[in-house]
Amino acid sequence: MSEFNLIQKYFTRLMRHTDLGVGDDAALVKVADGMQLVVSTDMSVADTHFFHDAVPYDIGWKSLAVNVSDMAAMGAQAKWATLAIALPEVNENWLAEYSRGFFACADVFNIDLIGGDTTRGPLNISVTIMGEVPIGKAIRRSGAQVGDDIWVSGTLGSAALGLACLQNNTLQDKIGIENDALQASIHALCRPMPRANLGLSLRSIATSCIDISDGFLADLGHILKASNCGATIDLDKIPCIDYLKNNLQNSQFQDYLLAGGDDYELCFTAPPSKRDEIKLLSKQQNILLTRIANTRSPVSRMSIGLESGSLEVMYQNKPLSILKQGFDHFA
Ligand code: ADP
Ligand code: MG
Repeated sequence: MSEFNLIQKYFTRLMRHTDLGVGDDAALVKVADGMQLVVSTDMSVADTHFFHDAVPYDIGWKSLAVNVSDMAAMGAQAKWATLAIALPEVNENWLAEYSRGFFACADVFNIDLIGGDTTRGPLNISVTIMGEVPIGKAIRRSGAQVGDDIWVSGTLGSAALGLACLQNNTLQDKIGIENDALQASIHALCRPMPRANLGLSLRSIATSCIDISDGFLADLGHILKASNCGATIDLDKIPCIDYLKNNLQNSQFQDYLLAGGDDYELCFTAPPSKRDEIKLLSKQQNILLTRIANTRSPVSRMSIGLESGSLEVMYQNKPLSILKQGFDHFA
């Protein structure tokens, strides 16, 4: 199969909001009047971000979903994506399932795949996503004010638990995880559901926002640093599935919750005056939204040596000494 037939067969679909898509030297899109173009790239590398023999449908879904999550965090409406993919060989079964998963995600979030690049090489997937936000309305990391509430969507730590179980078969026996929690955790890891609608609604509510992809402490740390704030978090207040909650005395489980990657939930700040609006939003969108702490001034006696300013974690009224804040490819 030639490169061009491959692109035609697996990566060319009807466009919904694109003037010129796959097939020319470049794509053409129109950004609506009064809108800013929002751009983000996320790369997925085999055996770093996913197991090379993972279900290809899931790889396809997730390679786009993690990019949608970045748009959500900015309060942007995702519209277009490009896909640069290196494949070790042409495996049509793999490609069919990969593209089915990719376009399933594209359909849910109404995104056009408008171009890309296809080469031979170690399996590596780089998606660039583009979206729109009204000029000046993007939600940045730097907008949190001292005294704001800190909110988290959904539950955290499940994907990290799922990854630990997949990486280590004996772990399942060791931790005796029930099947329901195991399946839910693996689903959280392989099929993240980015909070696209929530991100759009937060434009008029949140003072800052980030999607939690590298670990909760690391990502909240980015907001605190950019906003020059500090925070004290109570481990017990971080929303997670019962199975994690019941095992939090164990430092391994604390790590899943605080530093595990791949949650793709939103962490945002908002003034206390917005609480009712946020509770309503939670009902309307049927998304758990939990107020976990408040931002404070960055100085603190007990602050852990975060590059990101001061962030401390309490557990049962004692400060936790944190070894790991999140995932860093080069740390
Ligand atoms: P060029 O050599 O001019 O860069 P290519 O031969 O790489 O063009 O690509 C041909 C067309 O197919 C372009 O429109 C490009 O954007 C698109 N394309 C290539 N790979 C992909 C892919 N994996 N997904 C979507 N579109 C792709
Ligand atoms: Mg090319």
